[in-house]
Amino acid sequence: MSDKNGVILDVEHLYKSFDDTPVLSDVNLEVKKGEVIVVVGPSGCGKSTFLRCLNALEEINEGRVLLDGKAINPADGKSLSHVREKIGMVFQSYDLFPHMTILDNIMLAPLKVQKRDKEGVKAEALELLERIGLFSHKDKFPRQLSGGQKQRVAIVRALIMHPEVLLLDEITAALDPEMVREVLDVVLSLAKEGRTMVIVTHEMAFARAVADRIIFMDGGKVIEEGAPDRFFDSPKTERAARFLKTFSF
Ligand code: ADP
Ligand code: MG
Repeated sequence: MSDKNGVILDVEHLYKSFDDTPVLSDVNLEVKKGEVIVVVGPSGCGKSTFLRCLNALEEINEGRVLLDGKAINPADGKSLSHVREKIGMVFQSYDLFPHMTILDNIMLAPLKVQKRDKEGVKAEALELLERIGLFSHKDKFPRQLSGGQKQRVAIVRALIMHPEVLLLDEITAALDPEMVREVLDVVLSLAKEGRTMVIVTHEMAFARAVADRIIFMDGGKVIEEGAPDRFFDSPKTERAARFLKTFSF
């Protein structure tokens, strides 16, 4: 499927500005199939913009993003929906449709976008709901679920599209503390089954547990990257050390 050494997603010299303000400068990243990358860094350093560039929600100014060796070109509208099917994304706000049941929320995109067979999609949706412990909630509406439950549904809604890569942008940031664990546990189980993911989080203990590699960004640049134990125990840069000191974990 992928080109060099199992690389599924390849970011080369990515530059992104809003108006004339540079937000990402020469960001490079190779993600291998099955790898879990966690991106950390201070608020405003460009993490969300970076994820959005990866699945073409943002146009990039310079550089390339390649999925399976093929450049993602935001100017090409047709290939874009294809890209977004292959690169799923879950946000901080779960964005479920309030007037649709949980089951219908999950089945919508595979039916409408991928034009898949209804019975097959339903069977898969129910299986996924079972897996995250929400089968009995299938006919409820989003307002009847807790934040943590809604976020687990949002993850399932991304999974049912069979993405090659999953992007998670601070998916527990809006949750009450007691609901964070149940969502992170789902992500940990996805990592264990070999899902390729790029995760932005401020949950540092989780980052250390789930990551194959940590990317530390500041000011729109990758300042350092490395294995989680090395990064958390002995950051190479003073900026990373200072950032880590702001967390107690
Ligand atoms: P993070 O996710 O690390 O907190 P963001 O990627 O959201 O950072 O933002 C990086 C920078 O880009 C910030 O200075 C932010 O204000 C700016 N920015 C983000 N989105 C936009 C936008 N749509 N228009 C203009 N500036 C933006
Ligand atoms: Mg962000």
